[in-house]
Amino acid sequence: MANPEPTIRNAPLVDQFQRAITYLRLSVTDRCDLRCQYCMPERMQFLPRKDVLSLEELHRVALGFIDRGVRKIRLTGGEPLVRRDMMELTRALGRRLGDGLDELTLTTNATRLAEFADGLADAGVRRVNVSLDTLDPRKFAELSRRNRLDDVLAGIAAAKRAGLRVKLNTVALKGINEAEIPDIIAWAHGEEHDITLIEVMPLGEVDGERIDHYLPLTVIQDELNRRWTLRQSDHRSGGPARYWDIAETGGRLGLITPLTQNFCAGCNRVRVTATGQLYACLGGQEQVDLRAAVRSDDPDRALDAALNRAMAIKPERHHFAIRKSGEAPALARHMSMTGG
Ligand code: SAM
Ligand code: SF4
Repeated sequence: MANPEPTIRNAPLVDQFQRAITYLRLSVTDRCDLRCQYCMPERMQFLPRKDVLSLEELHRVALGFIDRGVRKIRLTGGEPLVRRDMMELTRALGRRLGDGLDELTLTTNATRLAEFADGLADAGVRRVNVSLDTLDPRKFAELSRRNRLDDVLAGIAAAKRAGLRVKLNTVALKGINEAEIPDIIAWAHGEEHDITLIEVMPLGEVDGERIDHYLPLTVIQDELNRRWTLRQSDHRSGGPARYWDIAETGGRLGLITPLTQNFCAGCNRVRVTATGQLYACLGGQEQVDLRAAVRSDDPDRALDAALNRAMAIKPERHHFAIRKSGEAPALARHMSMTGG
């Protein structure tokens, strides 16, 4: 797929709180080959294909953002690597690296990463985020409802061989991987991967009760402090994570605490679902329909106008809260809709 001639760049995206939006998370599918318990129910209803943006539409949306000053794009899902034309999109966007785009990355569960790692590296991807919540095959099968840990570990190893930097994301879950977290960190650092822990967020209905597994990272941090020497790092990724260096492992640990700490003041990002809904905030309802824009008679103009609307409605901060047992989630949509 060819990129059109670069146009004169339009006004950069800046919201009403003077935050420059330079980072897009673009979900390319809501489908997934795993069924992580905190993310979706076993019988997840996936979207009809006609509702999902085509390859050309995804490309147009991404270019619309690059023209408005977005310099980093993360492709996500659902599981991005289950979409058949995903590599075509990656290659097309990879050709904009150094031409408006500074970084193209991917968040993946790594089940298919062994197959695609070399292709991603060839397309200009330098870093991937891999979600890994346990190194125990039995626990993995239970948590993701699929017996795929071997594929995931093979995917991570292939990424390393292909020269991709791997950052692991681990959702901290009380009574599930809580006791294993120090071992996962030690393993990650031994393999020279950074790792970030995430608190479970109340997004979408799942089969069980998320509240039962909610684990504040302050609890984990106390545990890690007893075991290791953690020093706060001045490393910043422009995102919500705060970082610590662990003296004994020589590695870096990120903590994302949407529920115990608010991180919205420095927000530089928006998210677009596979159906082209722009969500101005992961934790809010504010949305703009980019699919209608790219399917209109004058897609470039309509897209530009839609992005302006998004800047006007991006909220100052999210309003997440873990609900009590039995209450509906704070937001009805799943993380697999909005992308992680
Ligand atoms: N399938 C890919 C993966 O798992 O990396 C990309 C999409 S997934 C929705 C992105 C991230 O969201 C994963 O790291 C996953 O652990 C996280 N996630 C999903 N549901 C979540 C929830 N309710 N709370 C916190 N993190 C969640
Ligand atoms: Fe799939 Fe990622 Fe959700 Fe797990 S977290 S079910 S891998 S989309």
